[in-house]
Amino acid sequence: EGGVVRLAILGAGESGVGAAYLALQKGYDVFVSDFGAITDKYKQQLQQWDIRFEENQHTEAEILNAVEVIKSPGIPDKAPIIKKLKEKGIPVISEIEFAGRYTDAKMICITGSNGKTTTTTLTYHILKNAGLNVGLAGNIGNSFAYQVATEKFDHYVLELSSFMLDDMYKFKADVGVLLNITPDHLDRYDYKLENYAASKFRITQNQTAQDIFIYCADDAETIKGMQGLDIQSQQLPFTIEKKLTPGAYLDSDNIVINTHKGNFTMSIKELALQGKHNIYNSMASGIVAKVLELRNDSIRESMGNFKNIEHRLEFVAKISGISFINDSKATNVNSTWYALESMTTDVVLILGGVDKGNDYGMLRDLVKQKVKAIVCLGKDNKRIHDAFEDDVDVIVNTFSAQEAAQIAFHLAEKGDTVLLSPACASFDLFKNYEDRGNQFKEAVREL
Ligand code: ADP
Repeated sequence: EGGVVRLAILGAGESGVGAAYLALQKGYDVFVSDFGAITDKYKQQLQQWDIRFEENQHTEAEILNAVEVIKSPGIPDKAPIIKKLKEKGIPVISEIEFAGRYTDAKMICITGSNGKTTTTTLTYHILKNAGLNVGLAGNIGNSFAYQVATEKFDHYVLELSSFMLDDMYKFKADVGVLLNITPDHLDRYDYKLENYAASKFRITQNQTAQDIFIYCADDAETIKGMQGLDIQSQQLPFTIEKKLTPGAYLDSDNIVINTHKGNFTMSIKELALQGKHNIYNSMASGIVAKVLELRNDSIRESMGNFKNIEHRLEFVAKISGISFINDSKATNVNSTWYALESMTTDVVLILGGVDKGNDYGMLRDLVKQKVKAIVCLGKDNKRIHDAFEDDVDVIVNTFSAQEAAQIAFHLAEKGDTVLLSPACASFDLFKNYEDRGNQFKEAVREL
């Protein structure tokens, strides 16, 4: 085979297929293997590019013969094929690690338990509006490798999940953002929060004094994790609880950002994204913008006109004086806490779905203050009843988005908000959170 390097790619989704295309372009002998069925779109691409692939199996003779393996973030380390690769000492890396070798672009990388997509999209919006030649990729759903193969960007804004970070070794974020650390995906981390936190902190790996690390000074797990680390980069915290400089803080209603590259202030009332969590997200994006020395009027305009992405505190409609909000992406209790926290009216809350071992205790105070009725939307709602029966007079069960919207509409009065923020996964009744949000929006429009 005359020196052609054999590369195996496990998982033929967005990241795997993108990595395959880049690898092909760089002259590797590529083999793609998916243990499940490959969707038509990706199968057609692989065929069109003449890349060898298989589905519904992993042929070990092929995979264990590779010099290096790229693994999709969805495949756990416990999968037998990964164990075998590790036993044989074959390096297993992520698509991001692989593609990072083939670009000199400045990397702005965003991770955290909640707020990744919002902050990544907002940051991209600010950079693009300021005229930078910037790409958007990663966990947000666009393959980084495919863009590296087909575009020539000077900057990338990457959303990174902990699973992606786990398989990154040499990669470096020029600007790394860690939004927060709250328990999630613990099944992949031996049920140890410190393991999950360690994976998030890989956002700082390989950073030097020229690089930037942006983090939330109000997040207890982040602060705890940083104590044991020797972070080499310049640290810029953001906080709403105290005044820190350099970094970002809140001065009455104003965000104040101070960095070695310049300062910025803006009233939170002018921000397109509302809610306490979005003050954090906006601060993080604002620090990135300042570190890149973007102009203040441009940053202010972008922070003011940003259109929030679907399914995140998305305003749907106002009917008979009742506002309907779709926050279907809130698939854990922490997200729902922030959604409720941002509500300024009485709320009829649509809650429920697949419970991932939720602790609803942290919602009780806000529910007591703001929620007049809970509409459960899920196959099994017992834990929600148990958690809130002492706090809320009305708790009803529904089994479709349409039924939930109708009953919530009935329970709400003029001036109230109906909030779909389920704190649970969706796959008992829906395909995914997008499907749940879309069905809800459809049902609201039919009211
Ligand atoms: P991710 O991509 O990390 O899942 P998203 O930006 O999609 O996060 O937001 C998911 C949900 O999490 C939102 O609907 C919102 O309710 C909540 N959220 C957003 N930003 C934050 C934050 N900084 N802290 C806590 N919760 C947040």
